[in-house]
Amino acid sequence: MKILVGVKRVIDHNVKVRVKPDGSGVDLDNAKMAINPFDEIAVEAAIRLKEAGVASEVVAVSIGPEKAQETLRQTLAMGVDRAILIPYDGITEPLSVAKTLQALVARESAQLVMLGKQAIDDDCNQAGQMLAALLDWPQGTFASGLKLADGKIEVMREVDGGLETLALDLPAVVSVDLRLNEPRFASLPAIMKAKKKPLEQVTAQELGVDLTPRLELLSATEPPVRQAGGVLVATAAELVAKLKTEAAVL
Ligand code: AMP
Repeated sequence: MKILVGVKRVIDHNVKVRVKPDGSGVDLDNAKMAINPFDEIAVEAAIRLKEAGVASEVVAVSIGPEKAQETLRQTLAMGVDRAILIPYDGITEPLSVAKTLQALVARESAQLVMLGKQAIDDDCNQAGQMLAALLDWPQGTFASGLKLADGKIEVMREVDGGLETLALDLPAVVSVDLRLNEPRFASLPAIMKAKKKPLEQVTAQELGVDLTPRLELLSATEPPVRQAGGVLVATAAELVAKLKTEAAVL
């Protein structure tokens, strides 16, 4: 079974995002970029399936700028077998990501596609669901546990009030949540070895996909500055008194 994993290069989650002065988007100049954290978890999950002997090959795919090669090399150092970059400098929208992955699934004869539950830059949470619809494959979203047995994949999901377990027939699309695993750090020898692993470039044109955005960004603004509203109280009795008299909630 071959697994395709979608990885997006995004602004590092530790970086404070700055909006461009003209409101035309987020300022990415000189910003530290990194692998989308959910995608790193998807990569880890796919590698574990290979290590468990249920997957034969793990292929990482990124649609993004030339620099996304660094992101793909990171996945190769973690244990991915090979990587594919679809070069594109603009904003990638979930529908074009889904169409690109659909074309790659056919080209690679992949049986499982693993994605993050959302890209932390656009927060769309759509690419996986759109891909499952385009392929007409079953989908398990927000996986917090995974098991493969008898040609089915079991996806555990945290839902209101507990855990839900779905059994999906393969081929399938799975998107992963934060608590699925803790991604490994690549060792130095693995980083060196990753430099020799295959990283192929395929154009969107070759795949018959048009990546031109369909949405227009009208404006981006900073969130409103929070007013300092807290008051420190010395004792629990003072808190209760304030809740009674000032807040009038007791
Ligand atoms: P989104 O629907 O944009 O929140 O993205 C959901 C998931 O789709 C991400 O966590 C990635 O696994 C995948 N994805 C989104 N954009 C890209 C991209 N440009 N290249 C590769 N995978 C992507």
